[in-house]
Amino acid sequence: MKKRVITALTPSSDQLHIGNYFGAIKQMIDLQNNEDYEVLMFISSLHAFTKVQDAAQLRHNISMFVKIYLACGVDPERIFMFDQAPIAWHTQLTWILSCMTHMWFMQRMHVYKDAAAKWTADALNVWMFCYPILMAADILLYDIDLVPVGQDQKQHVEYARDIAEKFNRQFGDVFVLPDALIQSEVAVVPGIDGRKMSKSYDNFLWLLDTPEVLKKKVKLIVTDALPIEAVKNPDTCNVYNILKLFLSPEEDIIVRKRYTDWGLGYGVIKEELYQKVVEFVAPIQHRFSQLDDTMIEQMLLANGQKANDIASKKIEQVYKAVGLL
Ligand code: ADP
Repeated sequence: MKKRVITALTPSSDQLHIGNYFGAIKQMIDLQNNEDYEVLMFISSLHAFTKVQDAAQLRHNISMFVKIYLACGVDPERIFMFDQAPIAWHTQLTWILSCMTHMWFMQRMHVYKDAAAKWTADALNVWMFCYPILMAADILLYDIDLVPVGQDQKQHVEYARDIAEKFNRQFGDVFVLPDALIQSEVAVVPGIDGRKMSKSYDNFLWLLDTPEVLKKKVKLIVTDALPIEAVKNPDTCNVYNILKLFLSPEEDIIVRKRYTDWGLGYGVIKEELYQKVVEFVAPIQHRFSQLDDTMIEQMLLANGQKANDIASKKIEQVYKAVGLL
């Protein structure tokens, strides 16, 4: 039987960059192509609200994210995509689980501990403390077997499993116990300044940037000042570290050799990177231009009803088990 997998996309901005594609979107596309899995993908708009507290911006982000994911190749025929926010059961189950969760347990969470170490209590918001409980509800409502996460989120899936086990022990078998599916570490894609490409650093190549903008940005990629005739190390070159994402193994061998032979100019290799990026984003941008907001809303509405049916059945089981129904 297929394992049921859930994955989230959090619309915390309205654009996605090349780093997001290779670090997150590509993994989702790989999952949808794996015959062993039935994949659910939800828009974690309740989680996005922790950061985006502007109504128009939040609506815009949700629509842009869904369109960009679809344009990148996430196939709604193979991945069941829905928005968590209209399904009230996510927050209902969060309450039930909160009532069964000790403070000390949440205080152990690395993400919370890191935030608490960084910020004073008056700058910390309550969501930072309790969002893993919402995350557990997101998972447990849909009888999920596997949750693909990076190492940093593993502890949250373990909490979901622990609280599900505790519930089942006390009230009978209601929840499927989820496991974390640890995704192999994805190499960090550098931005044009050499730091990790991130929307926080203004060093990104957006998937929706025009060729003109991409050209300017690629020209700005920071390199060392070695002359053309010098032998160069591809592995420490920001241009190569972005370019390699787009190269076949054969092309990669040739490019690396050009670095280690003499005679490679950064202007030339930047032009090649520019060509590769434009080739890569062109079909994504074309598909994006064909998607409209109404289409997205209709899909989310229809899928929301289906998800609501599944989640409401689970809540009925929960309420009956605990005596609320
Ligand atoms: P940002 O740093 O731009 O704010 P997020 O933190 O929202 O990006 O990350 C969204 C997803 O994209 C995460 O799965 C993250 O691991 C991945 N990701 C973000 N930036 C990179 C990068 N430069 N290289 C590889 N993966 C990345």
